[in-house]
Amino acid sequence: SKVRIYTLAKELGLENPKMLEILDGLGVSYKSVSSTIEEDTVELIRQIVDEENAAGGGTSAQSSAPITQSDEAAAAPSAPASQGTQSAAAGGQTATQTRQETAAASEVPHRAPVVTIMGHVDHGKTSLLDYIRKTRVAAKEAGGITQHVGAFEAQTSKGKIVFIDTPGHEAFTTIRARGANVADIAIIVIAADDSLMPQTREAIAHAQAAKVPMIIAINKMDLPQANPDKVKTDLTQLNLVPEEYGGDLIVVPVSAKTGEGVEDLLEYISLNAELEDLRADPKGKFAGVIIEGKVDKQAGVLATVMVQEGTLHVGDFLVVGENYGKIKAMTDSAGARIKEAGPSTPVQILGFSEVPTSGEKVSSAKNEHAAREVIAGRASDRRDAENAQVQRKLTLEEMMGPLSSVRTVNLILRADTQGSVEAIQGILARKESEDVKINVMLAGIGAPTEGDVLLAGTAEATILCFSVTAPGSVTKIADNKGVDIKSFRIIYELIDEVDRLIKGNLEPVF
Ligand code: GDP
Repeated sequence: SKVRIYTLAKELGLENPKMLEILDGLGVSYKSVSSTIEEDTVELIRQIVDEENAAGGGTSAQSSAPITQSDEAAAAPSAPASQGTQSAAAGGQTATQTRQETAAASEVPHRAPVVTIMGHVDHGKTSLLDYIRKTRVAAKEAGGITQHVGAFEAQTSKGKIVFIDTPGHEAFTTIRARGANVADIAIIVIAADDSLMPQTREAIAHAQAAKVPMIIAINKMDLPQANPDKVKTDLTQLNLVPEEYGGDLIVVPVSAKTGEGVEDLLEYISLNAELEDLRADPKGKFAGVIIEGKVDKQAGVLATVMVQEGTLHVGDFLVVGENYGKIKAMTDSAGARIKEAGPSTPVQILGFSEVPTSGEKVSSAKNEHAAREVIAGRASDRRDAENAQVQRKLTLEEMMGPLSSVRTVNLILRADTQGSVEAIQGILARKESEDVKINVMLAGIGAPTEGDVLLAGTAEATILCFSVTAPGSVTKIADNKGVDIKSFRIIYELIDEVDRLIKGNLEPVF
């Protein structure tokens, strides 16, 4: 019978990436480690692994030691020989190459995955985070109240998982809008009694735009009216096909109330992280991102920094934008004082004089003088850029458009009813041609939100509104970010605008 890739890997004592390498070598296609493979292939892989083990080297020795010329020569024949077809022989070569390429990377240690939880209001994001925190965070100080620092570290049987604990996509998008990507995996929470709602679609659009892998958690499974099948069918309509329907979307039923399924969810996160092969060098140059900044009445400015590369130490000088600070004290997410922090660790830092904004990148400097130099350099770059903005001449490419032949018009659509959303989407679909692709990144009911603007900003999309108007706060952000929000009361005027966008994309406008 069919077997899931990760199950087979586990059975044969192989790491998932190694298993995928073997599958690549055989030219077997798969979507993820949770895809199933045919019985014949399973047999073949068992043989290959047996042969590799018998050949003496063993698979584990191979992945831990750098591959030398002779190892490679010895390892190469085993895969193709057992199948004896042309395509497998060619595939075996690819696997060898991949092994060689990854040999250098594998000296950089693995790091824990950073996960964000998104979804519609009331679907249980906070409850799920609370459940995980309650059951998976070791209480360091008895009776101590853990402060909210924007992230926490959960311990699981498969290692550490870091959760960003500002639920909702605001945190995700503000961080991304500044060019940083903190989350490795997005959990989309969908209540089993409510299925897909507008913010669910938004969350999915945000994860897709960021190219962050998604895992769906169908929550509230304890409710008698829970209908997970409806959720799965609704997902399929967004072209997100759960694996049990033949797709590659991982869907995990959970209850934040009873804890049912949460263990499975954590396992899938670890599995996905393993597949992503996340690595960072604790000895490398420090790089981090601000998760949250705030002023504490007693302590002063507190900033939560996610360490992405390298290691932070008390006493280090950090630069954020055009400010710097010296780390006076650091605490981990459970509130314990620490002296150093490596990759995938959220730390709260005391030592900045200005409150940094989430999403800002953090780097380190050797000493105060170096920090000041970096800042001076940035300030002068900024002034140059501001001047250049004023004097800028159009380049040929800007006049003629990019040279690739298919253009994409990115749109975010907002309308008063589901009916108008569907009607407009129907008309838009017919506007597509060989030269122009219309990409509706998000179509929703109700006024555009700040999240829409951030998404539009990163994707260079135009926001089109039909019979809804953006609140003042949202237009203000749009103005700041140079995002166009256009509102219409008549469908054909909206369509005319789309025509203009298409033309604008096709022909130079003088
Ligand atoms: P959020 O807005 O997505 O953060 O949702 P919350 O975590 O605040 O949950 C909204 C409501 O749903 C609260 O009343 C929770 O107690 C309830 N809730 C959350 N998860 C579950 C669950 O698994 N089962 C049940 N029965 N209720 C839940």
